[in-house]
Amino acid sequence: KAPKQPSVPQAEPVQGVGKVIAVASGKGGVGKSTVAVNLALALKEKGHRVGLLDIDIYGPSLPTLLGIMDRPSVADRRIVPLQAHGLRIMSLGFLMEDDTPVIWRGPIVTGIIRQFLRDVDWSGLDYLVVDMPPGTGDAQLALAQTVPVDGAVVVTTPSELALIDAARGFEMFRTLNIDVLGVVENMSKFITPDGEEFFIFGEGSVEKEAERLNTELLASIPLDPAVRKGGDEGSPVVVSAPDSETSKAFLELAESV
Ligand code: ADP
Repeated sequence: KAPKQPSVPQAEPVQGVGKVIAVASGKGGVGKSTVAVNLALALKEKGHRVGLLDIDIYGPSLPTLLGIMDRPSVADRRIVPLQAHGLRIMSLGFLMEDDTPVIWRGPIVTGIIRQFLRDVDWSGLDYLVVDMPPGTGDAQLALAQTVPVDGAVVVTTPSELALIDAARGFEMFRTLNIDVLGVVENMSKFITPDGEEFFIFGEGSVEKEAERLNTELLASIPLDPAVRKGGDEGSPVVVSAPDSETSKAFLELAESV
């Protein structure tokens, strides 16, 4: 017999938000936050009103990726998200004093995530893109139990290990009854300035895995120095190099969410 789950409040939609899209990954460092940021910006480019919520509580990276480090204000007892590149943004990184790593128990994680969804003024958005922590844990559960998630995008690199973890993430979303829209293959290849292509982490493995998992390969994002540079300088590639092949891949991805 399955162990009894503690009772939890029913998931309720975030007020004034069209779609909630979760960006997830099986492991860290595969480019999940990079994809979340550039997907949000690509959606904005297409004329949507977009918010970006970073619940990667153990390593919030949106402040660096977007080049903002302010404190959100409070108005009418609601937290007002920060603005950058035309997006509304909230991250735990805006509330932390320094870089001290945080160690929180499940209920605290759940409390923070609920507050980020319920007490932040997200009204008037077409999309809320949520940057999840890597793996399968309290934050994923808390998100699913707080709001109905319209779809999840799973980011992976073509390397074997990242793929194994991505498959685990898939199972989790299916268990949580969240629709997985598909996978994004990041760092798919490196293109030299002369146009030569190198498949550093292997070729075709993500597509094969997507097929096996009965899902879509939504986009392949090349390993692009402009992505790393833009990320470090707070100017994401969709903004800093809008005509690049990389940005076009993100704009295409925005069509499928
Ligand atoms: P995660 O959220 O999965 O931990 P990040 O999005 O923080 O990963 O990315 C980790 C690092 O890799 C960052 O420095 C980022 O700029 C870089 N990076 C991510 N995707 C790419 C890419 N396609 N090309 C080049 N660098 C990338």
